[in-house]
Amino acid sequence: MGKSASQKIWQIALPVPLRRHFDYFACQEASPKSGTRIKVPFGKRELIGFFIGEASTATIAFDKMKTAIAVLDEVPVLHEHQLSLGLWASRYYQHPLGEVLITGLPTAIRQGKPLPEPLAPAKTVVTPPPYTLTSAQQDSVDQLVKGLGEFKAFCLKGVTGSGKTEVYCQLIERCLERGQQALLLVPEIALTPQSVARFEARFGESVLCYHSTMTDKKRLLAWQSAGLGHHRVIIGTRSAIFLPFQALGVIIIDEEHDGAFKQQEGFRYHARDVAMMRGKLADCPVVLGTATPSFETLRNVQQGKYTLLQLSERVGEGELPNIHILDVRHKKLEGGLSAQAMAAISRHLEAKNQVLVFLNRRGFSPAWMCYDCGWLAKCNRCDTLLTFHKGMNCLWCHHCNRQLRAPSTCPECEAEGLNPVGAGCERIETLLSEAFPCATVLRIDSDATRKKGALQEKLAQAANHQADILIGTQLLTKGHHFSSVTCVIVVDADGGLFSHDFKAVERLGQMITQVAGRAGRASSGAEVWVQSFHPKHPLLTLLLKDGYDAFSEHLLSEREQAQLPPYGYMALLRAEASTLDTAMTFLSSIAAPSKEQNIQQLGPIPASMPKKAGKFRAQTMLLASSRRALHQHLEHCVQMADNNEKASKVRWSVDVDPIDTY
Ligand SMILES: [Zn+2]
Ligand SMILES: [Zn+2]
Repeated sequence: MGKSASQKIWQIALPVPLRRHFDYFACQEASPKSGTRIKVPFGKRELIGFFIGEASTATIAFDKMKTAIAVLDEVPVLHEHQLSLGLWASRYYQHPLGEVLITGLPTAIRQGKPLPEPLAPAKTVVTPPPYTLTSAQQDSVDQLVKGLGEFKAFCLKGVTGSGKTEVYCQLIERCLERGQQALLLVPEIALTPQSVARFEARFGESVLCYHSTMTDKKRLLAWQSAGLGHHRVIIGTRSAIFLPFQALGVIIIDEEHDGAFKQQEGFRYHARDVAMMRGKLADCPVVLGTATPSFETLRNVQQGKYTLLQLSERVGEGELPNIHILDVRHKKLEGGLSAQAMAAISRHLEAKNQVLVFLNRRGFSPAWMCYDCGWLAKCNRCDTLLTFHKGMNCLWCHHCNRQLRAPSTCPECEAEGLNPVGAGCERIETLLSEAFPCATVLRIDSDATRKKGALQEKLAQAANHQADILIGTQLLTKGHHFSSVTCVIVVDADGGLFSHDFKAVERLGQMITQVAGRAGRASSGAEVWVQSFHPKHPLLTLLLKDGYDAFSEHLLSEREQAQLPPYGYMALLRAEASTLDTAMTFLSSIAAPSKEQNIQQLGPIPASMPKKAGKFRAQTMLLASSRRALHQHLEHCVQMADNNEKASKVRWSVDVDPIDTY
């Protein structure tokens, strides 16, 4: 086909890191529908993009414009809502549309392959509920069900063990009765085999999982089935928010406070926030369930944007545990545990119960030291200490993954015998195995669960009381129901109390509350012991004595005074380069201090860990009193960055509503 000014011009979104559409001459008379895949030439390559619309004028010269190669679909693979959602998210997160649109897409679709024969429609069978709801559960179900058919946001705040899952189930049941589909987002599917099994028992074959560790083939079939409405209950991780649906009736986000809903690289979206837009597009309610609501959600409740539903009591025999602070100053800590903690463990083991020991630090010790000269093993590619892993006899950098054999003599003074300093899960495991030789000890952290299926196996052993002592990182805190656990030990409550990151304390409060919530799920008299070197720290005592509500209320008022999120609006511009100066200079050139009164700019400053994996990192924080002001300023910065001639020397990114400021 010859090129001429009368020929139609198509706007195509391509999966490349450029913030614009690309113009091509049409390759056929009739334009396809938006969301259809188009194959186009791009430089020397061919790319698969999405048809966005016809353009009345071209953004490049006619003689430079190429002609599209082929239209790949008769029916667009992206539904109208997915496209609208992508357009919104691309603007909101300042990320290239083409890259946003391929988020969560199965590989075969990205590669332009034809769609396979779909899975047969699954029969929707609903098994009756296992128990009668408490009145609080029933109230919540009633209110949620009333919300079906329109967009409305709910925060279902239920203490650990209060039966949120049963509320979800009954809501889903009513949604299915309306002939609609339900989407349940969970932080990590591998961590919740118990709840997936529960939904399967309830809704049979109609349940479908969607997450990144599935095979490409399974993902493709699941993606297609959700879009056709052949399966009606979809359980997925964050990217499932971008799935196609035939008739989406409700979105439920379980453990909404969990950081796993935020993507931390590339397209840095938060599935909880994207879900709100999705709910608006689909006219369906969005339910955020948790025992420890994020501060953003609490703020939305304060403002009346979200309806709060509360479950403040446990169902069945479970009672909330008694929480004690253990002052470990001046105490001899045997491998990280105080004598009092050891005594508590012993008591609960004698009573034939399970004990959970929580420490969010893997490895044997967070440092490896020479006592003669004070030498500490450091990573030479990052500004951090190396962690000693005894089982593998190596020093391991948890930031760049570098591993090396642990030296036995000091490289500085040649003294013999170096020493582990501090304790990680591996050390606690060794200590407790020796102290309680009759007890079975099970460690659940990412080191001990590397093999495929190992995590599920260990979680099942923990749940079936095949181990007496459970030791683990945050993998152990997430929503599990271990009915025999009557004692929880928090080895170190202090990490997070003194962080530069304004959200660190919030996370600490959520983590401690969640791990404490594993105790006493089916009995009374459960105990939680929290070790601290700062037992009088006002935030820690507030959390442990008065609970998460008082804690969050206090911190929210501090955030309000400082006009930090969720009262102010924040974005981070990050850059990394081969020198710190390059990264800092780049940031200075793209983010000049705004003349606007309502924008504060902090930085550029070196990141809290300036050197990571051999690169130097800097950041500029933007803080605004209105969302609009933030986005206007941000758009300007992004434009400056796109046009910056030094851009090829740095890796830079925009993080809107960051969940940490590292
Ligand atoms: Zn030495
Ligand atoms: Zn490193």
